Amino acid sequence: MKNPDHMHRFLFEEHPIRGQHVSLDASWQQIANQSGVKGIALILLGHALAAAALLVETLKIDGSISLQIRGTGAIHLLVVEATSSHTIRGIVRQSRELDNQKSLSEIFESDKLVITIKNGRAKPNQGIVPLSGDNLAEALQVYFDQSEQLPTRFSLACNEEIASGMMLQKLPEDSHDADAWDRITLLAATTQPEELLSLPVGQLLGRLFHQESLRIFDPDPVEFYCSCSVERTRDMLLSLGKAEIDTIIEEQDEVSITCEFCNSQYHFDKIDLEALFNDGDATPISPTRH
Ligand SMILES: [Zn+2]
Repeated sequence: MKNPDHMHRFLFEEHPIRGQHVSLDASWQQIANQSGVKGIALILLGHALAAAALLVETLKIDGSISLQIRGTGAIHLLVVEATSSHTIRGIVRQSRELDNQKSLSEIFESDKLVITIKNGRAKPNQGIVPLSGDNLAEALQVYFDQSEQLPTRFSLACNEEIASGMMLQKLPEDSHDADAWDRITLLAATTQPEELLSLPVGQLLGRLFHQESLRIFDPDPVEFYCSCSVERTRDMLLSLGKAEIDTIIEEQDEVSITCEFCNSQYHFDKIDLEALFNDGDATPISPTRH
């Protein structure tokens, strides 16, 4: 059996090293189908979702982490988010064909990856990572190395059915075996994408680290969920301001907002909008969500 939409934590019992493995299938397929892209754009979206799902588990927060790359390249936008309640969502936008093998920064024509951590009501914490390396796993490793966080390594893989990833993290405790981290990360680096995608977690870890004693914890489910709502859309309209909305109403009779993450549509007609701006906390009369 594979690992449907699950996150597994594991520990190396004799070394201060922890790990996580994530396998996304139904959640990934839903997001992949909605994305309308194929090829490299789809692979990058899957890698980023697996990475975000792994990252949020390291944070011990009640909130979310998002990864965002914006640029002017053939793929000009990638946004993924994972929450501490084990939900994921994401989008990617491609404006033209990609030719040949390119580095991440060439694909996006951007030099940075923005990592945003939201923890409850606290101000979001943003980190900017140089978009170096050929893939997202390498870019994230640089982020952990440069931001004086725990050394962390990622392996990510994706096809149209499954997005999967593994993360190893060196804990700050002293180790009786100074070479363990290097040895274990070298072994992890030999993971083939096909193994990440197809092997049950126990079998994968057994194959990679058969000389180590590992404890694998019960899995947590992961699912696709979009947090958009009538209330959030209304807040967004309020933040645009009355003048902006008045201009839109003059041109068209209603404001329609489509959530890019889940394609839900929110419609506000003239009466809804007048009520919204006259009385900020009034519920719009006829917003619909499909
Ligand atoms: Zn949505």
